[in-house]
Amino acid sequence: MTPTLCETCRWMREVITPKESRFLLCQLSITNPDYPKYPPQPVVRCEGYERRGESHADDA
Ligand code: SF4
Repeated sequence: MTPTLCETCRWMREVITPKESRFLLCQLSITNPDYPKYPPQPVVRCEGYERRGESHADDA
C-alpha cells in the first residue's frame, strides 16, 4: 500500500468502525474547511501536514 502522509501527521485521528473498517480523520477539517474530514487515501502531498511528535508542547 502506498504510504500516506496522514499516518505520521499530528492532525490525523484513526477511526475504527464496528465492522473494523479503518478511516483516517483529518482534525484540521474541524477548523479549516479546505480539508476534508476523511481525505481520500493515500495523501501524498498536503499543505497542512505536520509531523507528529516533534517539538510541540501540546502533542500527546
Ligand atoms: S493535514 Fe493533511 S496529512 Fe495531516 S491528516 Fe490532514 S490531510 Fe492528512
